[in-house]
Amino acid sequence: MYLCDAHLHSEFSYDADSKLSDICGSATAAGLSEVCVTDHFDANLIGPGDPPESHFDADAAEKAIKAAAAEYAGRLTVTYGIELGEPHELPDCSRAMLAAHDFDFIIGSLHNAPGDPDYYVVPFDRMDDEEYKKTMDRYFEQNMAMLEFGGFHTLGHLGYPWRLSEGKGHPADPERHRAAIEEIFRFLIKNGVALEVNTSGLRREINTVHPLPVMLEWYRAMGGRLITIGSDAHSAGDVGAGVRETHRLLRKLGFTEFTVFRAGKPEQKKLAQ
Ligand SMILES: [Zn+2]
Ligand SMILES: [Zn+2]
Repeated sequence: MYLCDAHLHSEFSYDADSKLSDICGSATAAGLSEVCVTDHFDANLIGPGDPPESHFDADAAEKAIKAAAAEYAGRLTVTYGIELGEPHELPDCSRAMLAAHDFDFIIGSLHNAPGDPDYYVVPFDRMDDEEYKKTMDRYFEQNMAMLEFGGFHTLGHLGYPWRLSEGKGHPADPERHRAAIEEIFRFLIKNGVALEVNTSGLRREINTVHPLPVMLEWYRAMGGRLITIGSDAHSAGDVGAGVRETHRLLRKLGFTEFTVFRAGKPEQKKLAQ
């Protein structure tokens, strides 16, 4: 059985503080074969005049990850990734970050629409249905804009706002956005970009992975086969959380393989039975 957690945050993320040693210890204890450390780089969060390193020190992260990879060689594969947030909002800064470092794996993620705060703090509970629909329409449009910018290997946590709007009067409604979601899937499949299954929703009120299982059914029916799996852990204790359940879910939906990335190249692995 090969289990990989390909989305997690260490002390090099602005919103996490786990040491690589704790992450790797937790991963081996959880029976994982591989982790990819994907710290945040959101160019739109860098203060005016501040250098990109003030937000994410990619050199220091790489050094620590390579040291952990050497220490755990033969027990745990440790690869060097990044979660690139909203790259299309500050394209030059994002391109410079990607050009300057040899990431094994790059996640493209959308956490906010341009000019808006993170969906984490969007007041869903004060929105009427029309405003909510507009917010979600814009979310999917911005995912397309980010995909067109490109430069990443997997699309992170598609449906992220639903992780946060649950319990605030607006249940997740993928059917309502099916055309936009299928347009995104068509783009992914055509361009060889993978789709991430993010398990952090299993640790929240919504209690599901993102994208929602029905969306994964649509993706599969359209021919999609490149799936990365990540816990989005922001603490060492959550490393690997939900990965086994996700293997079972994907099997149930008819998938047989998932994808890991090494030096930017996809490699298919069998899903656990
Ligand atoms: Zn994210
Ligand atoms: Zn993340």
